[in-house]
Parts: sequence; structure tokens; C-alpha cells
Amino acid sequence: MVIGILKEPNDKRVSLVPNTLKKVKFDTTEIWVETGAGAAASYPDEKYEKYAAVKDRTSILKEADILVTINPIPKKELSKIKKNALLVAMFAPFSNQDYIEQLKTTGLRAVSLDLIPRTTIAQTMDILSSMAAISGYKAVLLAANEAPRFFPMMITAAGSIKPCKVLVLGAGVAGLQAIATARRLGAMVEAFDVRAAAKEEVESLGAKFVEVKGAIDKKDAGGYAVEQTKEFLEKQQLEVKHRASKSDIIITTAQIMGKKAPILLTKETVSKMKPGSIVIDLAASTGGNCELTEDNKTILYNGIKIIGNSHLAAEMPKDASFFYSNNVANYLKQIVKNGEIELNMENVIIHKTLIT
Ligand code: NAD
Repeated sequence: MVIGILKEPNDKRVSLVPNTLKKVKFDTTEIWVETGAGAAASYPDEKYEKYAAVKDRTSILKEADILVTINPIPKKELSKIKKNALLVAMFAPFSNQDYIEQLKTTGLRAVSLDLIPRTTIAQTMDILSSMAAISGYKAVLLAANEAPRFFPMMITAAGSIKPCKVLVLGAGVAGLQAIATARRLGAMVEAFDVRAAAKEEVESLGAKFVEVKGAIDKKDAGGYAVEQTKEFLEKQQLEVKHRASKSDIIITTAQIMGKKAPILLTKETVSKMKPGSIVIDLAASTGGNCELTEDNKTILYNGIKIIGNSHLAAEMPKDASFFYSNNVANYLKQIVKNGEIELNMENVIIHKTLIT
């Protein structure tokens, strides 16, 4: 059996890094890696050679039994893949329905790693958490770079500067990492979430948790937030408006699994913000938490910069690839038995991730 690692066409990351390969070299398994696949993430071909054969893309597509990528393999290449191969990637099936429909017609099997349940047992495979942690960290560094002012308090002979105020909307994995990073840079941080469990986590990082009463918090939603009522969202938008007008940086991360992201920052709220403020919207790919967000774009509105980017993890390709690779290796251990693919549907992790 051959496991193939392909180069990502528009992404500096790579799905499996050299040091992880020994974990996926199961009994009879060969590993093939596309020429230059890891180069942009600082993993040159030479580093792969101990465990893998470096090959051209066409051969890997044609002969690999398992194809591991981060992004879905481009539609135009699906017909070139070996019959009955298994594709392993983050397919984002809720927002990529056209792609999934086409995939179904090919007869290929596919598992979507972004559907791995958020449970303790699946934690070592939790790709969403790995990428979200990097995005949250990067969002703060990006904001600090774009901001026209300091993050920490400064007392100098030339005058004193108050610490920067950072507001984080959504305190999941990305939000918590953003809070921790902003605190390390000396900012004052406030955060919102609808899950009651987030309060303690936010406070343990030295930030203030802003509570809006009346949130629906379902314990059986797999840890995820659920859609809120119109009344709650209006109440929350008012509270956000009040806090936003005093903030220098807003980082938004609020998402609802499989649904459009909630609008927490209205156009009216943005117009009340201080000139020079920065909004980083990590929920941009699912519609954005800010009414003005445009996915993969930076816009200026009344002197406020709004950056819509849900792919900041790709901006730190070396460590993002390392995390992804470890997560993939742990997932492959579930589906490769004695050198063969074995999709045991009684295994909840496989059951939840198999999309075609
Ligand atoms: P996510 O990306 O789906 O959403 C980000 C955050 O936005 C969440 O905390 C969510 O509650 C919040 N949110 C949604 N609607 C909101 C609103 N209207 N206002 C304010 N905040 C809102 O979340 P995530 O970071 O992927 O984490 C999802 C869940 O999985 C979390 O509960 C997390 O603790 C849990 N988790 C569990 C494990 C594990 O046990 N293995 C690992 C990672 C994450």
C-alpha cells in the first residue's frame, strides 16, 4: 500500500513532515512524497528521503492508495486519481458542497479531518484545534503589526501610553490563544462567549469575561456553540457596541459548526470605533462576525482596518505542518491495519469523518 503526500497548490504548509513519517510507516506501507512538497514549510526533499520516495505528482495521483493533503485536491485532478483511493484532507464539507457533489461522482472515498469529534479520545487528531491555536496567535501578531500604537503600557520621558484594549469575540481555541498572546504583549483584554464554560478559561488567562445573559448553551452539541435567538444576538450586539467603541483591537472568532457565523459587530458599531482601530475577523470564511468583513480582503472603513482572514495558520507553515502532520499520523493509525485500509464504521471517529 502507498501513502502519497502531495504539494499544496496555494498553501505553504505540507500535510506530513519528515519526522512524523516513521509513525505512519506501518508494516507494508510505502510513502511517496511529491517533489518540493515540504519546501515552502522548511522541510526540503532530503529530509524526507529516509522514510519516503520523492516522486512526481502524476505518479502519486495515479498510484497512491491514500492521498494525504491539507486542502482538497483540485477538481480537475480528481479523474487522475487511482480508483478506490482514499483521500484524507480538510474538505470543509458544509461550505464546499459543489466539490463534494463532484467527489461523489468519482467513486473515490474521502475522509474530512475537520469533522473529527471534539472529544478527549480524539484530541490527538484534532486538526481544527491545532490550526485554530495558530490562527489566534497570528491574529494578535498581525493586529500588533498593523496597529498605530503600542500594546503594553509605556512610561517614558516623552510621555505615558495606556495599554492597548483588545476585545475578543468567541473564546474557543483561537480566541483563548488570542487572549493569551495579547496578554503576553501587555494588552488589557475583554472577551465574550456564549458557552458558560468559557468564563473560567478566559479569566484564568487574566482577561475579563463579558457575560450577556440568556445565551443558549447546549451541553449535547459536542462542545460547540449553537445558534442564538434573534433577541439574544441583538442584546449581544448592543453590549459589543459599548465595548467596541473603547477598544483598539477586535479579534473575532465566533463560529457555529456547519452554519453561517453570527454577526456580532455591525456596521453601526464599527462606525463608533476609534480611528486607527483594527478588526481581525477569523470567521471570514463562514461569512464573518463583522458585517463589513470581506473574505481574504482588507478593507478600510472610516479609518478602521478590517482584515478578513480565516487562513492565518498557513502563515506559520513550519509549525502548522508539524501539528497537522502529528494529527494526521494519529488519524491514520485508526484506519490502517496490517498495512491495509480498514474503515471500521463502529469507530466513531471514522464514522464521523467518512464523507464519501
Ligand atoms: P468554534 O471555532 O466553533 O467557535 C469559536 C468560539 O465562538 C466558540 O467558543 C463558540 O462558543 C463561540 N461562539 C459561537 N457563537 C457565539 C456568539 N454568538 N457570541 C460569542 N461567541 C460565540 O470553536 P472551537 O474553538 O473550534 O471549539 C469548539 C468547542 O470544542 C469548544 O467548546 C471547545 O472547548 C471544544 N473543544 C474540545 C476539545 C476536546 O475536548 N478534545 C478540543 C478542542 C475544542
